[in-house]
Amino acid sequence: MATSAPTLPLLDVDNPATGETVATIEQVGADAVAPAAERARAAQVRWAARPWRERAAVVRRFHDLALDRSDLVLDTIQSESGKSRRDALAELITVAGTARYYLAHGRHHLSDRRARPGVPLLTRARSAWQPHGLVGLITPWNFPFLLGVADALPALLAGNAVLTKPSELTPLSTLLARDLLVEAGLDPDLFQPLVGAGPELGGPLVAAVDYVGFTGSTATGRIVARAAADRLIPCSLELGGKNPMLVMPGARIEDAVHGLVAGGFANSGQTCISVERIYVHDDVWDEFVAGARARVGALRVGWSEGFDVEMGSLVSVDHADKVRAHIADARERGAEILVGGDEPPPGLGRAFVTPTIVTGTDETMAIHSEETFGPVVRLERVASAEEAIAKANDSDLGLNGSVWAGGRRGARGLARRLAVGTANVNSTLLIYNSYDVPMGGIRRSGIGRRHAAAGIQRYCRQQSIVESFSRGGGYEIILRLVDTPKRTAALLRVVRLWRRVPGMR
Ligand code: ADP
Repeated sequence: MATSAPTLPLLDVDNPATGETVATIEQVGADAVAPAAERARAAQVRWAARPWRERAAVVRRFHDLALDRSDLVLDTIQSESGKSRRDALAELITVAGTARYYLAHGRHHLSDRRARPGVPLLTRARSAWQPHGLVGLITPWNFPFLLGVADALPALLAGNAVLTKPSELTPLSTLLARDLLVEAGLDPDLFQPLVGAGPELGGPLVAAVDYVGFTGSTATGRIVARAAADRLIPCSLELGGKNPMLVMPGARIEDAVHGLVAGGFANSGQTCISVERIYVHDDVWDEFVAGARARVGALRVGWSEGFDVEMGSLVSVDHADKVRAHIADARERGAEILVGGDEPPPGLGRAFVTPTIVTGTDETMAIHSEETFGPVVRLERVASAEEAIAKANDSDLGLNGSVWAGGRRGARGLARRLAVGTANVNSTLLIYNSYDVPMGGIRRSGIGRRHAAAGIQRYCRQQSIVESFSRGGGYEIILRLVDTPKRTAALLRVVRLWRRVPGMR
């Protein structure tokens, strides 16, 4: 880790499920950022000069090491987040998937593209990708290992150095990722976690880097975007969601209920793409409600390092209290609690929230349009697909959506009409493991995309290189030859014809 300011207190990292302090680590202050950036920049020049194959070898070894040390990885994730073993496993699998995808395709995404020349036969054009240099990542607590390292992998492969600021609640997984990367052969200066307070480190971090990628709340995203705008550096923001799920006639209701359990309650609902509101058609309402009630009511909640628990705690008592406040507010304003409620599950601590389904909500309730970010969903009955789409799209946020309906084509048609960056048919979270499609939000859910070509190209500046074979260069030499009305008319005839010549347009 970077040098620490001696005055800063040590940081306790707690397991929210047990209340136990699992580590006490050094944190750094604002003054640590510039020296870390300087070291990173020096290392980046050497790193970018190495061929793709050598950079890829490091990421490949990291991929293998992370899987070899799966127990350590899962223990670490669970220890600082309180989540279930399965939720931790999902993080590891997604990190491996991201590495696998960019190892296989990243080189192609960054290869030069031969482009149409300005003047056929006389010139050539190509576009190339150059690494920004130093990438800053500010990451949240909900997926400490996944978000702690996965977005860094394409940045590193592209030839950048990375300064990353993990959430102060969950820094251990990022530190473990750093150790694995270093063991895989990465120069430690190329991936430096800066552990400390967000408001203190955020400004200096944005001031020191050439690109910033932020994942977290819309409010903090706005602060980061402002700081990036001040410096005119590119940024991407993956922010909140109030993600709708549509359950329409013809859907297999049992599958949709499973989709709800995964989409609403995996990771204790602390997933930016998790289901927060469900629009259920009249025709299937009774069946869906009965299934959801039974399945969500039976979720095994608790703390375990085995796979016997389906849902763990939330990240902190503070956050759990915020989630419970949404449930209490809805209840007090007259909503019906179908399952769960605003008390922790019996025998468990206050970082646990009882899986909850609410219905009969209205727009005066916080749960209606604010992101809850917990194991709570609200159900609403609709009379038609049109009504479902209109209600689903009536939101400031537009991250993820999910459609369950009879007939694949009809479902896909509804998915297209959702005002979201990503939509799933017959699934809720599949998008995150579909690495070959861009992932990100619209409206206040963010700017920019991770995954696919966009997910590695965002870490590069695009450079265009044009060449001329004629002395004096392409257009200029032609224009210099045009010095009479006759020649002008001839040139304009050529320009007019040009539009019609296949292969030269
Ligand atoms: P939450 O409110 O759920 O903790 P945040 O969006 O505040 O979510 O946190 C995401 C990340 O942003 C964390 O790493 C946090 O430390 C960081 N952060 C918090 N405040 C700031 C800030 N003012 N500038 C930059 N980063 C910040």
